[in-house]
Amino acid sequence: MDLVKIAGPAHYLPGRVNIGVLIGEGQAAFIDTGLDEGAARKAVQALEQAHLRLAAVINTHAHADHCGGNAFVRKRTGAPIYAPPVEAALIQHTEFEPFFLFGAAPFKAIDSKWFHATPTPVAHILDARITLCGVELEVIPAAGHSMNQVAILTPEVAFLADALMAPDILERYPIQYCYDVLAHRATLERLAGFRRDWYVGAHFPPTQDLTPLFDANRANHDRTAAAVLEALQSAASTEEVVRTVAESLGVPPMDPAAYLLNAAAVKAHLSAHVREGRIAFEIQDQRPIWRRLP
Ligand SMILES: [Zn+2]
Repeated sequence: MDLVKIAGPAHYLPGRVNIGVLIGEGQAAFIDTGLDEGAARKAVQALEQAHLRLAAVINTHAHADHCGGNAFVRKRTGAPIYAPPVEAALIQHTEFEPFFLFGAAPFKAIDSKWFHATPTPVAHILDARITLCGVELEVIPAAGHSMNQVAILTPEVAFLADALMAPDILERYPIQYCYDVLAHRATLERLAGFRRDWYVGAHFPPTQDLTPLFDANRANHDRTAAAVLEALQSAASTEEVVRTVAESLGVPPMDPAAYLLNAAAVKAHLSAHVREGRIAFEIQDQRPIWRRLP
């Protein structure tokens, strides 16, 4: 894994999930730690080769592919973990992720490392401003994709975590996981107002022009929102809406884990449509039904 400089103190380690690296005063801080021990081991080795001591880990949010490397990093370096409120609780109690995706105690098929990282203690809750390794950072809200995700800004670079996805990922996974569609839309609007020289995501490489990413992400969300409404030509159950939307957006055959992620995202859109007055949620004949409002 090669340490790649972006600008000023901001670097990153490219991978399936990019790991941000801030360097200053002979020390380094990670922004997220990847999915598992394998990713974290490579990241720690890259620092060792550069003769840098890891002083801190920032987690942008609690999804397992962002905090799954925490346990190895802590074991190897002892670096303290910083995380936003709520996400910090989930990082310390990672059994919540399979629970909230399924709604009850999970079973093996839906309790893999993709949903369930090894828990780690969080030493510090992130404030709006923090200085690590001599680098002044702004921590800005980027909720929606998860309950309380944050983006991390150096003077030159914005680390946007999962607030935006690369167009090829949007094509491969047409229904994007989302906790709160309305919060996510607000985050996209707010991020569009932040100017930095460079932007990097967990799933896209550094770029100086976010316009194509904003366009692709907004179009993806609008298409999913429209497909959910379209699925309610007549009243339908949650499972029926998920199937209709998956078919209309060309989602490849799902395994149980993919189903839970897609169903959660569809429910996020259903919730947004209810809150914006387009549909209602009712129980009819002991079965939950979503119905278009006139
Ligand atoms: Zn995520």
